[in-house]
Amino acid sequence: MPAPAPGRPGSLLVSGIETTLLDLPLVRPHRFSVLSIETQAVLLVRVRTAGGITGIGEGGVPGGPWWGGESIEGMRALVDGYLVPLLLGQDALRVDYLAHRMDRLAAGAPFAKAAVEMALWDVCGKALGAPLHQLLGGAHRTELPVTWALGAEPAETVIEEARAKLDAGAHQRFKLKMGALPPAEDVARVARVAAALPETARLSVDLNGSWDELTARRFLPGLDAAGIDLVEQPLPAWNLAAAARLRERHRVALMADESLRTTQDAAAVAAAHAADVFAVKLAKSGGIGAVRQIAAVAEANGIACYGGTTIETSVGTAAAAHAFCAVAALTAGCELFGPLLLADDITARPVSYVSGSLLLPEGPGLGITLDEDKVAKYARR
Ligand code: MN
Repeated sequence: MPAPAPGRPGSLLVSGIETTLLDLPLVRPHRFSVLSIETQAVLLVRVRTAGGITGIGEGGVPGGPWWGGESIEGMRALVDGYLVPLLLGQDALRVDYLAHRMDRLAAGAPFAKAAVEMALWDVCGKALGAPLHQLLGGAHRTELPVTWALGAEPAETVIEEARAKLDAGAHQRFKLKMGALPPAEDVARVARVAAALPETARLSVDLNGSWDELTARRFLPGLDAAGIDLVEQPLPAWNLAAAARLRERHRVALMADESLRTTQDAAAVAAAHAADVFAVKLAKSGGIGAVRQIAAVAEANGIACYGGTTIETSVGTAAAAHAFCAVAALTAGCELFGPLLLADDITARPVSYVSGSLLLPEGPGLGITLDEDKVAKYARR
């Protein structure tokens, strides 16, 4: 049977899905509480339709399975072995329906599902000739202030890096990774960094769940005194009751990241009064549809959203920019710095940053075109 022509019924049926593993170098090593990375591993997904449209999506897990249990190798096996057979022959425009079908077929695995869903959304935008944000109800804003993530390196190293960003007129907001040192040393390090930055700079910290409640009770006042106004995930993901107690006792705002993966998590965190801010990310929640549901919970509970990253290339960064700009409650900025931390990109024209803000891409779908030479260069062999 000949393939239907574009614009004809049947032309948007999924005819093939291709997965590629990539390793992209970073401009410097990026240190988390548990490990350090020098390259970012990315799963690139291409969804092809019978009519000749190709949608692109990506999923990356910084440092492998420590954060959420998924790795790009495992994601690829799930996509190729299970999600591709499900999606072949399906109408690519039925994104939400297909996302639900994927959820029925495979539990968890949000990073893998988000990569596929992203490619389906890109197909939709390209098929309809509209930027993705228009399909999501339209943009509330056209740029997002970007927080620059400083690693868990010694104070001198991160101060130098933050000052260089400030001097260049780029980022004004910084997030410091904590948790790699004993708490007293760690807080002293943060205080040194905070004291070395000008008043205009804002500094937040991310503990990736490294502290227990007692440690947090002892050391949050030190962070507050240092001028830190936002603390991300000080406690393990499950301990919502303790997070709520910290919010009662301390002035600093708490942001939920590991505690907040699913829409059900969002409802539970909100009901427990365990966060002031939701860190939303496409990958950890399974895609754009899930982020929009979480944002709806945030809006219903008067909670602000912050756009998180899993260190995406311009592909995933563009997708997140469309999603975040189309969410009313996303008032706390974002950390979509992936393309700035990566030493190279896989797109013909990477996303743009002006004065420390990410600009919402235009053009159909994600508004992004792959550079096939770069894809080939960084493809894992
Ligand atoms: Mn985090």
